[in-house]
Amino acid sequence: MGTPAHRRLVPVNPRDTNAYRTLRTQWLDQQTDLTCHWCHQPTSRDLPRAHPRKTTVDHLIEVDLAPDIALDTNLWVVACWTCNSARGARHARTKQRTDPNRRRPSRRW
Ligand SMILES: [Zn+2]
Repeated sequence: MGTPAHRRLVPVNPRDTNAYRTLRTQWLDQQTDLTCHWCHQPTSRDLPRAHPRKTTVDHLIEVDLAPDIALDTNLWVVACWTCNSARGARHARTKQRTDPNRRRPSRRW
């Protein structure tokens, strides 16, 4: 009753929710073509985690930038593990560069 106990003030990573995991499984079940969106190589869901050809779901818009649309499957593409992790690493570097806390305080104008 009242406010649900699981409701938090700190935003939860949408990828860590059961809703996301369920939706991702359903979405992958519907995909007839598991070709990687980026490198056009076939992927497989039967491979172990972190295998280069493992099927993953990639987001055309980074979840970090837009958590509220993480469950919008129109923005989902099939990607192999290799491409997905390469994109994630690039995004992490961009984020580091643009993080205002990391900017040098002695900036001159
Ligand atoms: Zn790929």
